Amino acid sequence: MPRMILNHGRYFTGENFELVEGAVVIDDGRIVSIGVKDGDRPDDVEIDLKGASVIPGLMDAHCHLIYRDVADPYDIELRKSIAEATIDAVFNASTLLDCGFTTVRDVGSRGNIGVEVRNAINRGDVRGPRVQPAGRILSAPGGLADFHPSHIFEGRQYPYGLGVQVVGPHEARAEVRRQLKDGVDWIKVGVSGTGFNPLCPAERNGLSEAEFEAVMNEARLQGVPVAAHAESAEAVRAAARLGAQTIEHGIYIDEASVSDMVLNGVTLSPTLSMYRAFAVRGGEMGIPAVIVDQHKRTHARHAESVRLAFESGVPIVAGGDAGLTHFPQGNCAEEAVSYVEIVGMSSRESLRTLTVNVARLLGILDDVGTIDVGKRADLVVIDGDPLGDLSLLQRADLRRYVLLDGEIVAGTAALN
Ligand SMILES: [Zn+2]
Repeated sequence: MPRMILNHGRYFTGENFELVEGAVVIDDGRIVSIGVKDGDRPDDVEIDLKGASVIPGLMDAHCHLIYRDVADPYDIELRKSIAEATIDAVFNASTLLDCGFTTVRDVGSRGNIGVEVRNAINRGDVRGPRVQPAGRILSAPGGLADFHPSHIFEGRQYPYGLGVQVVGPHEARAEVRRQLKDGVDWIKVGVSGTGFNPLCPAERNGLSEAEFEAVMNEARLQGVPVAAHAESAEAVRAAARLGAQTIEHGIYIDEASVSDMVLNGVTLSPTLSMYRAFAVRGGEMGIPAVIVDQHKRTHARHAESVRLAFESGVPIVAGGDAGLTHFPQGNCAEEAVSYVEIVGMSSRESLRTLTVNVARLLGILDDVGTIDVGKRADLVVIDGDPLGDLSLLQRADLRRYVLLDGEIVAGTAALN
């Protein structure tokens, strides 16, 4: 396989995005030199970047590959068959790559779609980013992912939902084992409600402590990480105390929970932009008023929580939770912009939430997440200075190349 030489580029290298200009040499998918070429080989393939910027491939820590044109829970679970949801997930995986996302964590799917899409991408059957999937969201009856009034299924569990309802610690443990058998990389658990579920708001607690503890214990025994959806103060406290690998959303973080997060190395995945966008533009984009109103009620508190966590040294990862009508797939880079505007991060700190912080969380920082010699060449080449203005990351017209594993897979110049 010939080497690829990227020439005349501006490379944001290492965890601190130190600027290096010149050439990057890629051999067999990995970066072998940065700055100077180590001599020409006759079959080298050289690409002139004409002064464009090169950053690590973007990473979305809170993705649902099945979400497409979603306005409410009905759209996720009932409007589409499992077959249609699978097609959506394949379509979205391709879109994410086009948008510069080379790695995503899928934090909840119907059936076992996230796992199957990961496997199909790994086999080379379909195009898409690296995927670390969870399965169905472990929830309680009346909890996060129990979206429909009791009369609809006459109290029976809907088998094709985004969530699986567990009752008691034994069922919780059994479901963790079942999902591991089916190939998940993560366990997603709904500890509290959400503004997106009109039947179980953010402040309501879903799983009992015994059930959540059982999930954590089984996951620890099996060595699988846990993403805990926790919005209420009690849910956040429990997830922080029990040491879930991530807290998703974290609307009501307080001093007590933040010190446990630091103590137990818990990462926060706030999805602040998507939640904020519910309040700001959801109404005009067809999101039901009850969902818009819940997010209007919680946005200021949510922002305060993310600031508290960030200032206390909690690692933060950017997650899109995208695929809704007001926040389409691939929109996760808006999260990095929000961290600068609302949370007070520098653009460097914020770019880390889209790259290195996610790679560390997913345990793949040795391979990807920064531009360094020895790492896999997952890269985005864009015109302009992304650290000067992170909103450039969302501009499709500036995205010249996307590289996955040293191969050009997307970008405006890739089409020429
Ligand atoms: Zn989500």
